[in-house]
Amino acid sequence: MAAVPVPSTNGASAPSSEPWANPLSKRFQSRIILTTYPGQSVVDPVTLNWGAADPEERGPVVVSRAGETLKKRNAIGAHGGSYSVYNALAIASGDLPPDFKPDFRNTQPTFDFPMQPAWSDPSKIVSMDPFGHNIARYYKTHLDSGLDIRPTIAITRAHMRVSEIVTSIESGQLQVDGNVIINKEGDVRVTKVAVEPVWFLPGVAARFNVDEGVLRRSLFEFTGGSYPELVTRPDVNVFLPPIGGLTAYIFGPPERVSDPSVKLALRVHDECNGSDVFQSDICTCRPYLVYGIEEAIKEAQNGGSGVVIYFRKEGRALGEVVKYLVYNSRKRGGDTADQYFARTENIAGVRDMRFQALMPDILHWLGIKKIDRMLSMSNMKHDAIVEQGIPILERVPIPDHLIPSDSRVEIDAKINAGYFTDGKKYTDEELKEVKGRGWQSWEDVAH
Ligand SMILES: [Zn+2]
Repeated sequence: MAAVPVPSTNGASAPSSEPWANPLSKRFQSRIILTTYPGQSVVDPVTLNWGAADPEERGPVVVSRAGETLKKRNAIGAHGGSYSVYNALAIASGDLPPDFKPDFRNTQPTFDFPMQPAWSDPSKIVSMDPFGHNIARYYKTHLDSGLDIRPTIAITRAHMRVSEIVTSIESGQLQVDGNVIINKEGDVRVTKVAVEPVWFLPGVAARFNVDEGVLRRSLFEFTGGSYPELVTRPDVNVFLPPIGGLTAYIFGPPERVSDPSVKLALRVHDECNGSDVFQSDICTCRPYLVYGIEEAIKEAQNGGSGVVIYFRKEGRALGEVVKYLVYNSRKRGGDTADQYFARTENIAGVRDMRFQALMPDILHWLGIKKIDRMLSMSNMKHDAIVEQGIPILERVPIPDHLIPSDSRVEIDAKINAGYFTDGKKYTDEELKEVKGRGWQSWEDVAH
């Protein structure tokens, strides 16, 4: 049997001269710990009581494997969601010392969201750490003792400028009030809350009505066996998955979000990079997103609150590669609305992987008790929110004039499948006649 080769440090980039960076063994413990088991001598987790109301009694989420923190872990996975892989790359390349500890001075939230009853309800918040925004305050003693713990929520404020909003100001549809919209150039004040996923596995399993053991095994198997502790550590019930999180954009004073005496307008939006950023016209994503922002601004200007929540769930959480394959299959297959979902199911096996069941957690965290105007037609989002005990008083579909013609295939197929509308509902027969733009004009030109 051949000896296991020693990994080379002479990669594409020159090895760092930092003492910790080279040789390789200095970056890691000499013994690889592939997994751990309850009761091992290296296992001494910090107590974590998910659902405890007092942050000290709840305990910090500890997931780092750096130095002495390795023994204290009470969570599986890594910080940063999908960016955890870049973190590993930075350490491998010698750019980042493995024992680096952040300096959190001045990073505290720009608004102190008041603690909500849901923060200590283990059935209401299962996919984010309710105390993850202010670990420097809640867990100072743990930080001072040298434990490597990190925030999983960050809260900041900003100005934003969106071209459609500038146009709406120019046409008189939106007013400059000097507060939410601060000038005629279209600068809008916003509070932003970024959230990384932190899953309380028993709660996630309950939300999906599956056995926790099945959930753990499935997560283990289908992330390439990356997290064996999902199987070997039933005593650890928190997992930081390698996926994208969310950002909540809040218009108007953030304290109004949890005030049930004022109106709230809400858009829950799932990422669609092609439309949201690059404005391709095959779907209604950016027009609906911007409409949601405009309505949120109006509600804030009327003394209420407006919230837009942006989830990193590209292409119905199937990813852009699958999404583009579906586009090709649609365009080559006639692109009619009656075949819209079948094209996705043929390639992905399902029509949607967004699973809105975890989505309402952020609403609970913000203290949202009812939604006056829901800027979404999705029955899945609607049902998930209502099932979580948050009533939706009005559903607002995207106005017809904002729907790009090539995206009629998508929106009409969705309406036929149960999306909310106050306009026309197409029959199966009629959906055959709703056609997208073909590729003919493309094939004729040089490109
Ligand atoms: Zn889209």
